[in-house]
Amino acid sequence: MGGSPFIVERGPECCNCCSCAGHCVRGNFVREGDLVVLKQDYLCSGCGECVKWCPVHAITVRPVKPITVYRKVR
Ligand code: SF4
Ligand code: SF4
Repeated sequence: MGGSPFIVERGPECCNCCSCAGHCVRGNFVREGDLVVLKQDYLCSGCGECVKWCPVHAITVRPVKPITVYRKVR
């Protein structure tokens, strides 16, 4: 995972269609034979494109550090 600020996970639904590889601007997914693999040293920006284009909803992307949302006190 290295220093990626976002964690990318894939479920068993993945059918190796390669759509995520075609849409990730950072090239985090690569085809290896019949399989599509997530690079060991991937660096994910959390853009969500792979999630959006995966036809079987196999990908989840979440921040390494939980995001805290503050509300302005009036
Ligand atoms: S787009 Fe989804 S189904 Fe296709 S290779 Fe990527 S994770 Fe697997
Ligand atoms: S969220 Fe964006 S940068 Fe991260 S793996 Fe998916 S397409 Fe690539």
